Amino acid sequence: MNFSLEGRTYVVMGVANKRSIAWGIARSLHEAGARLIFTYANERFEKPVKDLVSELEGQDALFYECDVTDDDAVNKTFEEIKGDVGTIHGLAHCIAFANKDDLKGEFVDTSRDGYLLAHNISAYSLVAVARAAQPLMTEGGGIVTLTYLGGERVVQNYNVMGVAKASLDASMKYLANDLGKHGVRVNAISAGPIRTLSAKGIGDFNSVLKKIEETSPLRRTVTQEEVGDTAYYLLSDLSRGVTGEIIHVDSGYNILGLS
Ligand code: NAD
Repeated sequence: MNFSLEGRTYVVMGVANKRSIAWGIARSLHEAGARLIFTYANERFEKPVKDLVSELEGQDALFYECDVTDDDAVNKTFEEIKGDVGTIHGLAHCIAFANKDDLKGEFVDTSRDGYLLAHNISAYSLVAVARAAQPLMTEGGGIVTLTYLGGERVVQNYNVMGVAKASLDASMKYLANDLGKHGVRVNAISAGPIRTLSAKGIGDFNSVLKKIEETSPLRRTVTQEEVGDTAYYLLSDLSRGVTGEIIHVDSGYNILGLS
């Protein structure tokens, strides 16, 4: 079995800074020999992302601006990628957003606009991106998205983002069923809490990290690198029989009952 990703091209969506989970995924794919394509939400991220990527020795990366709330932007991005590289072998979707006010207090207070915003950016975007990317995966491929336990269970303060993650999880499974006949696998990684820009918006995030350190089977939080290596597995032939799956990279926290 060849574990190398040399000769393969992957799109990584959602690097904001060096703490981003997407950056952990990019580094794992780079180390495995992949060529990388980065998309970022708007021009504000262009320089920081390009500066970070310049640290990846020998990486001949491409960059595109892509706001996933805009169907035209999503379609244009993948048309441009098709023109520039032809075939891609996979994609990492590492994108989510909700209003800060909706990530504290009670879920019952979520506004209609806040609910729709979170679902638009954090769940529907996977559908739009998968539809646009699949035709470029002419040799088959893999799509990985990032989810959280708050989509399966009630997690304090996670609120509307938990409901959006439940929608993302179900979307991932329906997409896996649709795209499997094209040789495209679709999976999710349920990452344990990691201190990132997005995580900063979640109320009392420090207590969540502490809880994982105190009670998870591994008694520690997880790193971007650990999530990155699982994404590498899911985007490589090592996982060729796996689709529609959620893999928890969370120090085992999800197996606990009362603790
Ligand atoms: P992050 O802030 O580094 O990444 C979120 C990315 O989403 C950013 O790059 C941001 O620019 C992008 N984004 C937001 N709106 C967008 C739009 N309209 N168009 C395009 N891109 C847009 O934070 P992260 O924690 O690395 O988040 C990545 C993914 O991991 C998210 O789906 C998040 O829910 C998930 N996740 C995070 C944790 C955690 O604890 N950090 C745990 C489980 C899952």
